[in-house]
Amino acid sequence: SQRDRVVTEDEWLQKWETGNTGFHKKRGHPLLQKHLDVLLNGRSGLRIFFPLCGKAVEMKWLADMGHSVVGVEVSEQALRDFFAEHSLPYCEETVPEIPGAKMLQSTCGSISLYCCSIYDLSSSIVGKFDGVWDRGALVAVNPCDRKRYVSLMITLMEKNSSYLLVTVLYDPNKHKGPPFYVPEAEIKSLFGDHCEIQHLQKVDDFSDRHRQWGLDYFLEVLYLLKFV
Ligand code: SAH
Repeated sequence: SQRDRVVTEDEWLQKWETGNTGFHKKRGHPLLQKHLDVLLNGRSGLRIFFPLCGKAVEMKWLADMGHSVVGVEVSEQALRDFFAEHSLPYCEETVPEIPGAKMLQSTCGSISLYCCSIYDLSSSIVGKFDGVWDRGALVAVNPCDRKRYVSLMITLMEKNSSYLLVTVLYDPNKHKGPPFYVPEAEIKSLFGDHCEIQHLQKVDDFSDRHRQWGLDYFLEVLYLLKFV
């Protein structure tokens, strides 16, 4: 069952090396475009966090709107590809608090991407955030690490912050994941004591990729988590 499945960091690095990155959306995610206003709430100059960011193009969108973007990703290749694909000059720094980690930062300073495991981060290193875009993040976390991941995310939320969370729905008996199936009841038990949870939208995302996995339906569910 999915409960016991573990994908190692090396396996993720391997996916990036071999170009097995079908999860990457070249044009960005339509659900973020559509619900951007609930994330930003009319505010400018926000700090937005992208956990397990890959080379998500939405980071560029938000930086271009004047927000400050922070991401974390184990694959250095993904982060270098991100800057290269957007022709963004960047510099590289070590992170004194995290041995072996690097931080790649756009020269203009608005995009800071940590190359390390998310579990190495804390609010004393990255600060707190006004907004989070969690797509391909909670659903990519090993099921045994979900509580740890969510506890950490909660500590990174500023007061009055918004967290957009995308989960996926499919028959978990037909595909081992990732992405992993995370039912609504589990979202409630993971986050429910800490924020208000709104189910915003459910969309069909079924494609050939999912058909090849042996699935016959694949849905995305968008939640808005409001931290007061
Ligand atoms: N959110 C991105 C990428 C989703 S795939 C998008 O929407 O396109 C999940 C990503 O998480 C992969 O790029 C993988 O390399 C990265 N990853 C997996 N475990 C991680 C961890 N513990 N810390 C940081 N990144 C991790």
